[in-house]
Amino acid sequence: MVETIPPRLPIAWRNMLFRCKHCGEKCCGLTPEVSEEDVEKIRRVKPSFNPHLTPEGRMILVGEKGFCPFLKNRLCTIHDYKPLLCRLYPFYPVEKKVLERLLSLPEDVEVVKHGSDEYVFLFDEQCPGVGEGDPVDFRKLLEAFLASKSSACSF
Ligand code: SF4
Repeated sequence: MVETIPPRLPIAWRNMLFRCKHCGEKCCGLTPEVSEEDVEKIRRVKPSFNPHLTPEGRMILVGEKGFCPFLKNRLCTIHDYKPLLCRLYPFYPVEKKVLERLLSLPEDVEVVKHGSDEYVFLFDEQCPGVGEGDPVDFRKLLEAFLASKSSACSF
């Protein structure tokens, strides 16, 4: 599913806590890749929106100083329409068998099953919301991820 594992991203554990602090410090400066589906969704509230095209032809979200163009006063102005990667952040699901080829998983790793497949989650430990708030609903995150994949998301 993913071809390249981001370097040094830690693996989410069972009952992990997260609560977004709405700081806009990390997630909104990641210039995420967006799918055609993401673009269509954003255009429902920003009709003139066009993603930035990289020399390789990837569509990304980037504005002034590398931050998201929809970030205003540290708040997301397209919250209900934001791209998949923003909805998943700071987590990203990876097939367990893919990760196991590269490293041994910790005993307390969170594993979510989907049919015969199993997923674990990498996360960005730079996000200040990690470790705060309530237990993460990893199943819900996985469902959002898989639903987007099945509608031809291409990152
Ligand atoms: S707490 Fe994390 S997810 Fe929330 S705005 Fe800050 S960096 Fe982004």
